[in-house]
Amino acid sequence: MRLKIWGCRGSIPTPGPTTVRYGGNTTCYQLTLNDGRIVMFDAGTGIRECGYELMGLAKGKPLDIIMLFTHTHWDHINGFPFFIPIYIKGNRLRMYGPFNLQDSERSFQKVMGVQMSPDYFPVRADELASTITYNDMKEGQFDIDGVTIRTRFMNHPIQTLGYRVEIEGKAFVFTGDHEPYYNFLYADEKPPEGMDAETYAVERESVERIVAFRNNQIVEFCRHADVLLADAQYTPEEYETKRNWGHSSWRDVCKLAIDAQVKRAILTHHEPLHSDDQIDKIQDDARRYLKERGAAIDLSFAVEKSVIDL
Ligand SMILES: [Zn+2]
Ligand SMILES: [Zn+2]
Repeated sequence: MRLKIWGCRGSIPTPGPTTVRYGGNTTCYQLTLNDGRIVMFDAGTGIRECGYELMGLAKGKPLDIIMLFTHTHWDHINGFPFFIPIYIKGNRLRMYGPFNLQDSERSFQKVMGVQMSPDYFPVRADELASTITYNDMKEGQFDIDGVTIRTRFMNHPIQTLGYRVEIEGKAFVFTGDHEPYYNFLYADEKPPEGMDAETYAVERESVERIVAFRNNQIVEFCRHADVLLADAQYTPEEYETKRNWGHSSWRDVCKLAIDAQVKRAILTHHEPLHSDDQIDKIQDDARRYLKERGAAIDLSFAVEKSVIDL
């Protein structure tokens, strides 16, 4: 299978001369299976150009696309109304997104529909001539036309799914937006005033165990992936001031890649403030980190429009 990166910027598009090499479009990735079937991940602004390429390659034949959404933050969905295949009769889009555990009334379809309401977009939803179906996904293992898809809820401010796709003897994992779990309840080693040290130590230890368990679940989810595509928005220094925002540092992803023994790691969801030159430097730092630990993992930062064969 083949991965094409259509958008790898986090949070907001960043056009301009300092971001042309790594790209300014937001999250969108395409897997093309060996038999030509297409699996898309997220629909950030990068999906607009993808739509034109897919239509061109289809040469008038209908498209049948599996679309896996990690979550519905803007940067992962707001290219969708500009994805031209949705306006063409005969095309079929099977869309999968996270089930809302907090509020089951707010289905994936309902949330996706908000950005197609007249307040935000001029084209009416009933003008989408393609056949679109919506599916709310929980954690588990699913088979979609012989493609094995595993899902896991990740650590992000809203319900977010990571996806693992296994087919043709290969495994591809996309984390979506994710921050390692950490013990924010008992971050300090010392107890707060008014709490005795022993009680604090016991409670802290029990939370530490849960945190380790959850992080280990993520490691197992990524185990032996041929390609791990992972959120690495921040440097470790930036991360310290942005805890709880739901994103990882490059060092977090390096640790995950080592622990899960992946073959290749592609770091993505680039911080909007990072220029091409800064990402070059960060990439050097990350590669050095792996080398110092003797990890033979092929690491790179995602480049818009690049193609990776698995
Ligand atoms: Zn994002
Ligand atoms: Zn997000």
